[in-house]
Amino acid sequence: MKQDRQQPSFIDKTSIKQTKSYIIHSTNDNKNQALMKSTLKILETIHLPTDHGVFNMSIISSGDEKEHIVLERKENTSKPPLVRIHSECLTGDIFSSHRCDCGEQLEKSLKIVGESDYGYIFYLRQEGRGIGLLNKMKSYNLQEKGYDTIEANHMLGFETDLREYQMVADFLTLQDIDHITLITNNPEKCDALRAGNIKVDRQALPTTTRSENQKYKAVKVKKMGHFGH
Ligand SMILES: [Zn+2]
Repeated sequence: MKQDRQQPSFIDKTSIKQTKSYIIHSTNDNKNQALMKSTLKILETIHLPTDHGVFNMSIISSGDEKEHIVLERKENTSKPPLVRIHSECLTGDIFSSHRCDCGEQLEKSLKIVGESDYGYIFYLRQEGRGIGLLNKMKSYNLQEKGYDTIEANHMLGFETDLREYQMVADFLTLQDIDHITLITNNPEKCDALRAGNIKVDRQALPTTTRSENQKYKAVKVKKMGHFGH
């Protein structure tokens, strides 16, 4: 495994204002537009040696008072970076829950990006597709009564998916990155970044289908338009 000894590339602390909807930038002044309309801040950056290689780890803030994380590998920027946008899932990421495939997706993404010369993993603190851990657990209990993940969210008074990806588009634009390979099965993530004028190629992220997550994975494909892989 190659060691990344260079200094973090994004230690400037840029403070800017944000709108909630996706910003459509003109081709010439993406960075200026992002600077004007985003509240993205890079708060602190460290070197983080892991089982998957050495990353630059930064905490970024987008005005929602949550500590979102970016892991960066940046040894050779001749090709577009590999990018994974991962939303926090405590049960999957920490406890390796079989109710979803988040833990496996994170593990595979860390391996793929860790072995690359150039890549980013965004770890966004929007647990349970944005409804939080307690509500996700309530949703799980409804799912045990036979409702699917979307029906359960609606019964709890939430929309299907509250996640947002604006801060990722802003971050990439501020790094002068306008072309990426996104590791995802979720077309909404591709669309969100394309709306920020970032060219997105997609790399599928297949995961194991288990008896416990079979229905959940099928609903993501049938009702949320996710790619089967
Ligand atoms: Zn999960």
